[in-house]
Amino acid sequence: MTVLEARGRTGGRLASKGDGLDLGASWYWPGEHRVAALVDEFGIDVHDHFLVGDAMYDDPAAAVRLDGNPIDVASFRFSTGADSLTDALHNRLESHDHSDVRLDSHVQSVRVHSSGVAVGVETNGNAGAEELDADHVVIALPPALATSAIRFEPALPSDLVAVAERTPVWMGAITKVVARYASAFWRERGLSGSAVSHRGPMREIHDLSGPGAEPAALFGFASTTASSGPVNDGDVRDQLVRLFGPEAATPLELTLTDWRTEPLTSPSGVEEITDYSTFGHRVFQGPTLSGRVHWTSTETAPVAAGHIEGALAAAERAATHIAEHTNQSGAPA
Ligand SMILES: Cc1cc2nc3c(=O)[nH]c(=O)nc-3n(C[C@H](O)[C@H](O)[C@H](O)COP(=O)(O)OP(=O)(O)OC[C@H]3O[C@@H](n4cnc5c(N)ncnc54)[C@H](O)[C@@H]3O)c2cc1C
Repeated sequence: MTVLEARGRTGGRLASKGDGLDLGASWYWPGEHRVAALVDEFGIDVHDHFLVGDAMYDDPAAAVRLDGNPIDVASFRFSTGADSLTDALHNRLESHDHSDVRLDSHVQSVRVHSSGVAVGVETNGNAGAEELDADHVVIALPPALATSAIRFEPALPSDLVAVAERTPVWMGAITKVVARYASAFWRERGLSGSAVSHRGPMREIHDLSGPGAEPAALFGFASTTASSGPVNDGDVRDQLVRLFGPEAATPLELTLTDWRTEPLTSPSGVEEITDYSTFGHRVFQGPTLSGRVHWTSTETAPVAAGHIEGALAAAERAATHIAEHTNQSGAPA
């Protein structure tokens, strides 16, 4: 198997800084058994998300301390960052499964012909430099991105393209804010670090600290619209101070990741695609183009769509279809 990854790293929307703080996904939840099984199999360190203390409500009129924490639910976090999961998968593929993981390899075209598929890949800026042969191709990127960035030949069925183009990219229009501090000062005041806001710029905030509050951090999600510019650093600091007090004004590091501006996650105009009813749509559930092109991003999953768990469920479905096809035709996968 060959994995073609356009970025210079694996992980996609699982992206962590060196200190383990997540700029993309950070949680998985009880019942997400596919993630839990991989965590066990690879021996990845995880910890419970911090729930103790009071949450805050950022009302337009005033910041209000709530009694308890009605905001957070029980969940788990990857202690050295969520991309420890994709790093482990990457290592497994290369070391045990003898697969080839090629970074900086941007898929530009998928051409299905009578005996297989030719995949056009641009590597290090050499457009059209290489065409790889395969029996099957698994499209593991958001459908709206795939149909805008990859040329398919013959053309994809029009009903699939219509659904793909209106399938949102989960969190693709979000700016994730991560504020790292010298200590988890909010915990000392009996606060959980969580907040909901009707004022913004962050609409929700949670504790992102590592085990034992090391490193100490808060994170938040700020929504963006087609007309809004980038989230403003100063507004973020003002909101953190409003909710958690003066110490919040001086994080050691403040990182704003605007996922709208990540062209390998979000197609342009991503904020305008907002109808989540297409998640797990039937057009993605089976292979297309002579049974050789499979759809596996989290957006295509019939369960846990949007989550890491959904991406794993979709991948399982594609693997089953490829195995069935291979058994029927006797061809190698
Ligand atoms: C801010 C944020 C917070 C999130 N929080 C959570 C959370 O707490 N829990 C949770 O379960 N989920 C969360 N998610 C969602 C989670 O990250 C996704 O469900 C998961 O990453 C989906 O995996 P995927 O493989 O479907 O897509 P992706 O992770 O997007 O992977 C797609 C890959 O395709 C590559 N690619 C794109 N175009 C090409 C091309 N032309 N050629 C080759 N490669 C290409 C990309 O570089 C990328 O590596 C969050 C996401 C974000 C952005």
